Parts: sequence; structure tokens; C-alpha cells
Amino acid sequence: MKKHNFSAGPCILPEEVLQKASEAVINFNDDNLSLIEISHRSKPFVDVIEKARSLALELLGLENKGYEALFLHGGASTQFLMTAYNLLDKKAAYLNTGTWSSKAIKEALLFGELVEVASSKDKNFNYIPKNYDIPSDIDYFHCTSNNTIYGTQMKSFPETSAPLICDMSSDIFSRQLDFSKFDLIYAGAQKNMGPAGATLVIVKKDILGKVERNIPSMLNYQIHIEKDSMFNTPSVFAVYVSMLTLQWLKDLGGIPFIEKINEKKSALLYSEIDRNPLFKGIVNEEDRSHMNATFTIENDTLAKKFNSMWQEANINGLHGHRSVGGYRASMYNALPLYSVQALVDVMQELERQA
Ligand SMILES: *Cc1c(COP(=O)(O)O)cnc(C)c1O
Repeated sequence: MKKHNFSAGPCILPEEVLQKASEAVINFNDDNLSLIEISHRSKPFVDVIEKARSLALELLGLENKGYEALFLHGGASTQFLMTAYNLLDKKAAYLNTGTWSSKAIKEALLFGELVEVASSKDKNFNYIPKNYDIPSDIDYFHCTSNNTIYGTQMKSFPETSAPLICDMSSDIFSRQLDFSKFDLIYAGAQKNMGPAGATLVIVKKDILGKVERNIPSMLNYQIHIEKDSMFNTPSVFAVYVSMLTLQWLKDLGGIPFIEKINEKKSALLYSEIDRNPLFKGIVNEEDRSHMNATFTIENDTLAKKFNSMWQEANINGLHGHRSVGGYRASMYNALPLYSVQALVDVMQELERQA
């Protein structure tokens, strides 16, 4: 039986996507060739990447609004520097909500002056700072929508006249937002879209071309746009599986549909965390993530017992990140509600046995 997979990333993908992907590795399009041994410039693969790019824009409601979708290499971590390389002329503002924001800040500092508008580092990033001022003389504002490691999520985004850039690696396609408020969105595929190896970048074209410096081709958004995301060999397998996952999501009813299920899943788990006296949530309630729920058990003996109980219950990937400890249940789009119920059952069984 397939495990209940709460892994934070790479993470669970829909069963039918895995099935189709495995078939394509042997025989793609009934052409007696593997997906991963054909030319990326052949029509069958060009169709795949074009479909992946258009599905991404369609699901986010960003078609015909001046945006381009790119599938690039190097993970979200390369976007930390690529955004700054392409957009940071003099000064940018960053909101620091955790490890990933801090890493983005570190890279961008190589390219210009940065203003950290607020940080939740004082409490090990267990909340989302609010009511901060964003300077007006900036090239862009950067934030992280969902903090995968701590389990916090931005529920609203600040108003600013500067371009809004967001690392949405761990909650893209999970909830409805007015995505047209953002000028650049990036996400490593392996959290909510596909396997590791591809990074989705959605960029509004009119923010580009405004910095003076020379940009190496591989790091230049304009070159990737001109080449239809085929400047070099794309990560064909990761792009294909991402396309399948986006198609799966569209067929289900898109983001409005999955958002309802995601809300049900997180409500089920958080209500048990709050009800069960053995467990304690780690982050500020109003900032809780629908994707990654973090919690602890105060009692060490019970924690050991809990560890063997959930593993016996066919559950995978529940240990917290080393910088937070405790537990982290990642409930990405493809995780079924019954997997969350399986976890809640174990939590209740622990309470009975305690
Ligand atoms: C995982 C993650 C990253 C890093 O992604 P890579 O693809 O490994 O570079 C960046 N930001 C967030 C929010 C993440 O969850």
C-alpha cells in the first residue's frame, strides 16, 4: 500500500501522474521511444513544454496579461540571485520570514542595497511580520508566500507601487490569490508541482530590461523568453511531470477546487492539534500555513511512542526540519484528505494510550 506521504519536498505527486510518467519513460506517445531520449526540440516535447507553460498561466488566471511562464534550471535557489541580477539596479526591499527569505537576501546583497523591511527572526520565524513600511524608492519588493520550514504563510500581501516578487515554491497552485498583483513569481517544482529539476518562473515582461549591467545568458530572463524557455536543454522529465500535474489540477477544477480540499485538510489537522492536550502548534495561529503544519509533543517518552506509532501506520515524512524540531506535516495538493485522517487517528490513539 502506498504510504501517507507528508514529505516537505520533494513531495507527494498524484498517483495517476506517476503512472503516466512511468509509462512515458519507457514509451512516450506510443512512439517506441522514451520521453527522456528524444530531442527536446522534437514536436512531441515542444508540445509538452508549451502546454506546461500555458497551463501554468491559465491556472493562475494570467493569460494575455503580459506574463511569460518559463521552466528553468537551478531550483528556487538560483532565482534568489537571478531576480536580483535582472531587476536590482540600486535598491530593493525584502521581508524576512525565514531561511529561504534570508538566503534570497544574502544573494541579492551582491547586486545592490537592500532594506529588510521586517523580520520574524526574533521568534525563530514563528509568525509573519505585519504593519511595516516599504520605501518608495526601490526597484522591487520581495517576499516568501509560504515558509516551508516553519509552517507560516502570508495571508495578505502588502500594497506597494514597486514590482512585487514572490517565492511561492511551497504554496503555488494551492490557493486563490489575485496573481496579477505580482510581477514575478517563482517556484521550485518539487513542492507542489512535480519532481526536482525544474523551476517555474512567471514574469511580467514589462519589468525587464531596466538594469544597466550585462547579464550572462543563462541568467537572463529576456533570453529565456526570446527562446521560448528552450535556450538550453530543459529538464525534460521534470517539465513533463509538471505538465501532467498541472493538467491533473485543471481537470479537477483548478485552484478554486483544490483550495477547498486544502482548507479541509489543514482544518482537520489543526483542530486536532488544538484539541489534543498532548500536542502544541508551533506558530502564531493566524499565520498558520495550509501546506506545512508544525507542532510538538512536550513529553519525550510520548514523542518516542508517537514516532513508532505513525511509522507503523504507514505514514512518511513527519519529522520537523532540523532548525525547528518537533513535527511537520506537509499537506500539498496531491495529499488526500484520508491521509490527514490517518494522522489524526494516530494522534487520538496516542492520547488514549497516554
Ligand atoms: C524548498 C524551497 C526553496 C529552495 O528550493 P530549491 O529548488 O531547492 O532551490 C526556496 N524557497 C522555498 C519557499 C522553498 O520551500
